[in-house]
Amino acid sequence: VHDHETAPTEASMTRTGNSEYYATHQATQKQIDFIETLLTEMANLGRKDDALDLFETLKNQAESNEFTMTQASIAITELKEKLKKLRVTKVEWPAVPTGRFAYQKSDDPDDVAFFHVVVKDNGFPLLWIYTPMEEIPVRGVPQKKAILQKIKDLGPFECELLFGQKIGKCSRCGTELTNPKSRAYGMGPDCRAK
Ligand SMILES: [Zn+2]
Repeated sequence: VHDHETAPTEASMTRTGNSEYYATHQATQKQIDFIETLLTEMANLGRKDDALDLFETLKNQAESNEFTMTQASIAITELKEKLKKLRVTKVEWPAVPTGRFAYQKSDDPDDVAFFHVVVKDNGFPLLWIYTPMEEIPVRGVPQKKAILQKIKDLGPFECELLFGQKIGKCSRCGTELTNPKSRAYGMGPDCRAK
């Protein structure tokens, strides 16, 4: 259902008008609501910190009555530009949860690759190649996607199990697995309970 009466038009929101009126009057509620919508999208696209910073700045400006309609228009135009770029660079990451994973790289059962994944609140995954000595970050998007896709296809749970069994550390929290049962599960009792 289209509501032509009240829906704010693109033109009314982005009008930068030179007129004295826009420059001297405070931003309208419609403009502020629209900015909030844009900032929410920005946060959802993985820029939560930036969105919060901007929100704080604009809020302070508005509270001290220093946020004019012209400034709101400019802010909207800039935000829309940023969002355009963010939407393009948004990557669809294969759904793999935070944890430690392993998979066999060839038919040789000893040819196993180990990984550590931490998925941030915004859905962005951090990935390391795991060795008992060190964790080496994987930063390239295609490499990261390929590894996460493989874990997803093989089954994250199965890959966690293999990690715990091979490394002897809990695939969720990384603590040493001393008892044979935990080792068989690839996970400590506390993490299993969760
Ligand atoms: Zn654990």
